Amino acid sequence: MRADYIWMNGEMQPWDRAQVHVLAHALHYGSSVFEGMRAYEVAGQAAIFCGPAHFERLLFSCKVARLPSVLTVEQWMGVTADVLRANRQRSAYMRPLVFRGCGDSMGLDGRKCPVETILATVPWGSYLGEEALQHGVDVQVSSWRRTGSGAASALAKIGGQYISSQSIVMEAHDNGFSEGIALDAHGDVSEGSGENVFLVYKNELFTPPLGSSILSGITRQCVITIAKDLGYTVTEMTIPREMLYLAEEMFFTGTAAEVCPVRSVDRTPVGDGKRGPVTKTIQDVFFGIVRGSRADTWGWLTPVEVNPQERGRP
Ligand code: PMP
Repeated sequence: MRADYIWMNGEMQPWDRAQVHVLAHALHYGSSVFEGMRAYEVAGQAAIFCGPAHFERLLFSCKVARLPSVLTVEQWMGVTADVLRANRQRSAYMRPLVFRGCGDSMGLDGRKCPVETILATVPWGSYLGEEALQHGVDVQVSSWRRTGSGAASALAKIGGQYISSQSIVMEAHDNGFSEGIALDAHGDVSEGSGENVFLVYKNELFTPPLGSSILSGITRQCVITIAKDLGYTVTEMTIPREMLYLAEEMFFTGTAAEVCPVRSVDRTPVGDGKRGPVTKTIQDVFFGIVRGSRADTWGWLTPVEVNPQERGRP
């Protein structure tokens, strides 16, 4: 996981020089907002997947965290293309981050601290593993709840809030599972530590609503669009925990995890414990689009024009 350059505060910096001060406010208090995005190789060049939607969410997270947004969506898209070109990457996992740096006070209200901005693009395969995309992952219901609205904003990707996701995933790993599914403050299904969750029951899809302390996932929205286009009914509704054991199929969605089947919950097989047909059909459309074998019907990909000297490179 390394690249030649990271864009930082308006400049392309060599990887080892992209550093922060140890008294940066964000390091102590989690005052950062970020995105996780991907560029896929399509027709020999990098294409940014759902770039504008990710940067719109980043700007929303800035607003919630009271951080100035620094760049517009269009400027962020330009920076992303520049970094991919500088790193000569045709595919990457991408991390824009806006955070409060080191000011002249250690107080919690860090609004006087300088705001720093980075964008890194690194090589990273599917988060839960290539094999998981076919065979599915084993998960547990986490003993950690998602923070309720009013305590934290699940809809904003704020660094400090990710201690909740870390608790969920570390507990799952320690118990021998690939991932945990957290319940919300009311005990209904919320989401994975870094993924939204979908259930299939009697050939219909169900997923928790925004009010169940979830992040409004961009992949979630793409999957809703794909599923509806395929003729499936998709219902966003409060999902009681026991539906996790009733579901015939289940899958995660997320930029890092992509569309990944869940084959068991709490050691109880989902359906017959294999990837189900609905999940496979949705995966085929999703991966078809991002790998360029299907038309990009909904305009999700933004191709990155390569440097003239790079054209024709194998
Ligand atoms: N929930 C959480 C808590 C996440 O961190 C992520 C990853 N960004 C998701 C869901 C999935 O969202 P997306 O599809 O936008 O990556």
